[in-house]
Amino acid sequence: MAKNSGGGKTRLPIKTQTMRELMFRSGGRCAMTDCGLPLTSPTGGWIGTVAHIVGAERDAPRGDSPMTAEERAAIGNLILMCATHGREVDAPDTGEANFPLERLRAMKEKHEAKVTEAVTAAIEQDRACVQTATGAIDTGLRPARAAATAEGLLESLCLEDKEDIARFVDALNGARASLQRLSQVAIDTLSQLLHLWLLDCRDELHRTCDFGDPSDGGPFLPVQNVKNRVIDSRLFNMGLDELQERNIVEVSVDDDAGTADYAFRPVWSLSGRDHYNFWITAAHFLYEAYGLEIQDWIAGLDFSIFDRIAPKSSRVDWR
Ligand SMILES: [Zn+2]
Repeated sequence: MAKNSGGGKTRLPIKTQTMRELMFRSGGRCAMTDCGLPLTSPTGGWIGTVAHIVGAERDAPRGDSPMTAEERAAIGNLILMCATHGREVDAPDTGEANFPLERLRAMKEKHEAKVTEAVTAAIEQDRACVQTATGAIDTGLRPARAAATAEGLLESLCLEDKEDIARFVDALNGARASLQRLSQVAIDTLSQLLHLWLLDCRDELHRTCDFGDPSDGGPFLPVQNVKNRVIDSRLFNMGLDELQERNIVEVSVDDDAGTADYAFRPVWSLSGRDHYNFWITAAHFLYEAYGLEIQDWIAGLDFSIFDRIAPKSSRVDWR
């Protein structure tokens, strides 16, 4: 009965494991915009509070929802706050009006992304120098927007399993974290390689692009073809050194056939039960849904575009 009543009067305690994870994700700070108060006192005591986005119970602020009691106590529905803001958010008379669902959800997402990014940047700083054949390249962390739901990209793959989706979004943000570390020179080289790949995929006559199967490896580009089309080979090679160092591109040589390819390494295979090639899935989605070529997208690294369902006006092949 508790399950059907959508929370009802059956407030569940928050699991220790959930609580621990929530604290890591929020960096131990209040998630309220412009607050950020540390949630432990100087002597180490806990002075924070856990607020429910969808209310813990039906008659709590934002509580009117079909969500089950379990879902209400799950990490995605919880947001860490200082005592003052916890009270404001959960005030019986004004909590819901001042802090509607969407506002709290956005607040949580933004705060947790900011924390992850800051921690990653701090840790990466020590490893930011990449030794390449042409010398050390200093790579700071570039700004990049995270994917929260990947809804649009998932639709293009017809992926629906909840656990697969969670893993998929993690992998996608892993790809973002890798690309964020590249220097401008490496991004330029990557962009040139992706551009050449796109030209190969394009059918000018029918104005379509065939990127291949998302479960395939690659993309692969014959070294010989690339050589003749590179604009500044010194810069290109500098970027290539870094891409190889970062394990993003490798030169794969086939001695028997006497050929060599630039191969995009499947370092961020998006895998649930199945395997999805990051480059192929992303390029296909961006091109079909938004007419955006992946080499242009890479300059901004906006992974949140994958959260958006393709506009109705785009004639995507997956609908
Ligand atoms: Zn606060």
